[in-house]
Amino acid sequence: MHILAKTTFALAACALAAGGSAADDLGQCPGADLAETELKNSSSSGYYIPGLKLIVLNKTILEGYAPAVRKFIFAHECAHSDPAVAEDEMAADCAASRKGASEGWLDRPNVIKVCAHLSRFPVDATHPPVGVRCANIRRCSGLFGPQPQEAQRAPERNPDATPLTTPTVLARQLD
Ligand SMILES: [Zn+2]
Repeated sequence: MHILAKTTFALAACALAAGGSAADDLGQCPGADLAETELKNSSSSGYYIPGLKLIVLNKTILEGYAPAVRKFIFAHECAHSDPAVAEDEMAADCAASRKGASEGWLDRPNVIKVCAHLSRFPVDATHPPVGVRCANIRRCSGLFGPQPQEAQRAPERNPDATPLTTPTVLARQLD
């Protein structure tokens, strides 16, 4: 009985995602289904429902945002489906920024956009202030180089994270 109801809801979610215009560009989340939907009277941009393994994204809010911000929200909600992250907001932010940097869709300007998006949300019991979340996202992305006191030391490059080389290339072109 319970399983039947869950399957029906998951199918409904797939239909919604397929009908949406931009569901495919958000990336993959093997552990969860996705529904992009109108959430009337909701200030939330998205959330994850653990019992259903379902990511719900608020089309109304996200439509106005850059693709990288939408992908970040999706990756953040997807991270909540990882038992190692669960309800830890900072860990979900960190996983999303690492994923974005390694896949190449999150660069420094987009980190700023993500931070601007997060600033619209109030602090609550599980969501730290935007400054704390943004510092965590910047650090986890690896896109902003070493901390100021280590600025003289060359940062170690991760060969899997190609976006890390972008600032260097840009700097050379500007020299
Ligand atoms: Zn979250």
